[in-house]
Amino acid sequence: MIIAIDGPAGSGKGTITKLVADKLNLTNIDTGATYRAIAYAALKNNYNVADKDKIVDISKNSEISFDKDGNIYLNGENITKEIRTKEVSSIVSKISSIVELRENMVNIQRKMAQGKDVIMEGRDITTVVFPNADYKFYLDASIEERASRRYKQNKENNIDMSYDEILENIKARDYNDMHKEVGALMRTDDQIYVDTTDLTIEEVVDKIVNYIKGDE
Ligand code: C5P
Repeated sequence: MIIAIDGPAGSGKGTITKLVADKLNLTNIDTGATYRAIAYAALKNNYNVADKDKIVDISKNSEISFDKDGNIYLNGENITKEIRTKEVSSIVSKISSIVELRENMVNIQRKMAQGKDVIMEGRDITTVVFPNADYKFYLDASIEERASRRYKQNKENNIDMSYDEILENIKARDYNDMHKEVGALMRTDDQIYVDTTDLTIEEVVDKIVNYIKGDE
């Protein structure tokens, strides 16, 4: 079984997919984290966004994996915390616009799902990675709500960014993510659209689980 979830930054995808994965015993794959891993490696090597070939090479020559707790590893190094920094967040959507990089990442993501029941979240899962997924959801929320969720999340993780800084970062990422040449975030008629602005986490999880169980 494949459940595909797309949506903009801060729409709750990460939190919701983890909880749905636990409830339905699915493997959870956060594809945003895989792009963040590449952005982290690019920064570490002092590459900038214009060094496209070098960045594509990272995706060809690195091994990205997750453990069962959702930690992410790049060539064996646990980079779970490092991929959430301000620096990574500010370059990741530019980096993920590189078409050849996306081709490699889509292959990596499909391989991660092979032979498993998965819930996979990102921006192009319902459209490019698994257009024939069993269930396809698009999670959304107002931009103010998304920024305030990210602000709270960052505080809990000791990441120092002001609300305004986060709002601007999310606006820029929304624009980039929705205007990509390949793999752009988009709404389609065959996705189940869930506006989470006024819903609690539990309400969103229940909605998705009930839908999958056929109760809604
Ligand atoms: O989900 P998250 O916000 O961590 O994703 C980080 C960035 O990775 C997004 O802003 C987007 O540019 C990129 N991304 C993507 N395709 C995906 C998942 C994430 O381009 N499937």
